Amino acid sequence: MKISILGAGAMGCMMSGFLVKHHEVCLVDVWKEHVDEINRNGLRIRFNGEVETVHPKAVTNPEDAKGADLVIVFVKSIQTADALERSKALLGGDTLVLSLQNGYGNDQDIKKFVPEKNIIMGTTDRAASVLGPGFVNNSGGRYIHIGPLGDDMSGAQRIAAAFRECGLDTDVYDSREVNAMIWDKLIINCTNNALVAILDINTPQLADEPLSDAFKMLLRESVDVARACGFPFEYDVYVEKDYALLKSLAKEARTSMWQDVNKKRRTEIDRMNGAIVKLGREKGVPTPCSEMIVHLVHAIEKNYAVS
Ligand code: NAD
Repeated sequence: MKISILGAGAMGCMMSGFLVKHHEVCLVDVWKEHVDEINRNGLRIRFNGEVETVHPKAVTNPEDAKGADLVIVFVKSIQTADALERSKALLGGDTLVLSLQNGYGNDQDIKKFVPEKNIIMGTTDRAASVLGPGFVNNSGGRYIHIGPLGDDMSGAQRIAAAFRECGLDTDVYDSREVNAMIWDKLIINCTNNALVAILDINTPQLADEPLSDAFKMLLRESVDVARACGFPFEYDVYVEKDYALLKSLAKEARTSMWQDVNKKRRTEIDRMNGAIVKLGREKGVPTPCSEMIVHLVHAIEKNYAVS
């Protein structure tokens, strides 16, 4: 398959390390130093202490990556629409577009540029971080779950076959199932992500009182909104699920929003707790705790400019 990855950050690079084994992969990113380093010396990927160098092509100009069978969108959710607007050259009439991003609303952003029949959505527990230009860490993970935005499963099945060939465990679901999985991850993100960033703590600390009371208030609102949107999730199940997750993490683990705040980058808050507030308003579900969290993260972001 000819694969272009839009957004060659942590996840885009990590995925390219697998896909380049059997496919023609091109990374597309606005970060010139990173792109130049990948073309000059290859992309270094660290996993379990070992560093492997792979050689995907990398470009800053989307014109140089057109004609792909598949475009994987791996910019932050707040950048999806803008990145696709600038990268229309990547999209042919039959190009499949896959998003494994976090956050709410990536499908609707992609739909402005791509026919529904070509859009595949999904979620993964794989994780990665950027260590420097041309250098990323593969933090592991097991699954990739994907499914079509519409009814036609064939595109998702082709992608899954191409991913499995490269050692990426990928399962295909129908559109309703995959949407529920995206919501499932959204709920956990809305519960943990911002609190860790605001409080500058390690993620597992959320499991201890009184922080556990705070995360449960956010969790309750997210589950209530999900239910109002037609996903019959159970609050008690999520409390157990989040405790289990927090216990499974390394002691020093931090959330992606903590990483963004630490690097003074705009966060995905508007596509996480912000989406819960917006949908809550539409569905008549009160979300005061989520709204407070959104204000606090916006205040932190605003402070970057003056600090
Ligand atoms: P990242 O910030 O490391 O990478 C995003 C990349 O997009 C950056 O290199 C940036 O330069 C690039 N970019 C921004 N605007 C662009 C544009 N117009 N054109 C081309 N490139 C552009 O982000 P990430 O951590 O890889 O996360 C990507 C998405 O995947 C997010 O939605 C995130 O929540 C999700 N996700 C991340 C992880 C993780 O462990 N990092 C795990 C699962 C899901």
